[in-house]
Amino acid sequence: MLKGKVALVTGASGGIGRAVALAYAKNGAAVAIHYRGNQEKAEEVRQEIEALGGTAELFCCDVADFTAAKELIDGVVKHFGRIDILVNNAGITKDGLLMGMSEADFDMVIDTNLKGSFNCMRFASRQMLRQKSGRIINVSSVSGVAGNAGQANYAASKAGMIGLTKSAAKELAGRSITVNAIAPGYVKTAMTDKLSEQVKNQVLSQIPMGRYAEPEDIAGAAVFLASDMASYITGQVLVVDGGMVI
Ligand code: NAP
Repeated sequence: MLKGKVALVTGASGGIGRAVALAYAKNGAAVAIHYRGNQEKAEEVRQEIEALGGTAELFCCDVADFTAAKELIDGVVKHFGRIDILVNNAGITKDGLLMGMSEADFDMVIDTNLKGSFNCMRFASRQMLRQKSGRIINVSSVSGVAGNAGQANYAASKAGMIGLTKSAAKELAGRSITVNAIAPGYVKTAMTDKLSEQVKNQVLSQIPMGRYAEPEDIAGAAVFLASDMASYITGQVLVVDGGMVI
């Protein structure tokens, strides 16, 4: 489905990014595996892709750093010759109630999730404009769609990603570049592992499908949005949450 395509997945050393990178490789894409600190996990993803007969390369940077993001995109284009799919998946949480939230925790979440996505889109879109085609997929969250107590910084960053998605979709549509967002609900990864059992059970009770998402549930949506089947879909938010925010 993605044969001949080059995909950059940011945060591919993490749970959802790994699943997206593997799903893209299974569908024929060459994958740029991006990570920040966890080289070991990124290397495991590379080995899994190579074991499938796929092609992958590792790239490391802090996406919140404008210059580093430029170097990331330049590096991917230098290595693979092009970039067809960008998945802005790198992200963090620093949860806390609004009245106690530190300025540093607010800034770090916005800088990583929102500015990091802008940084990568800013430079990848230039290459996609040259190619007159491309797919940008931003991993937002149901927290950005519906808000979530204790996540003012995170929800603001994820809602911001939706505005970024819609604006970029309007700017880039004329060159056959689509820009969409995926808004996962609760996905079983390191990010959610750290939540208390009480919070996990409370979330579970709000999911009509009665189960958390697996990273592969999100990867399926990412494959669809990158495929030819989605070539006329742009500026949309695909909520993948088992019915949590219906
Ligand atoms: P995860 O397992 O914690 O992975 C996070 C990834 O982001 C890691 O690869 C990490 O790299 C990377 N990262 C963090 N800060 C970075 C930075 N400054 N620069 C570059 N990379 C950075 O989390 P996940 O659950 O897979 O989440 C992936 C995305 O899905 C996030 O954007 C998250 O907000 C979103 N999401 C998750 C859920 C959920 O329930 N899990 C729900 C909705 C949305 P290193 O580990 O290598 O440092």
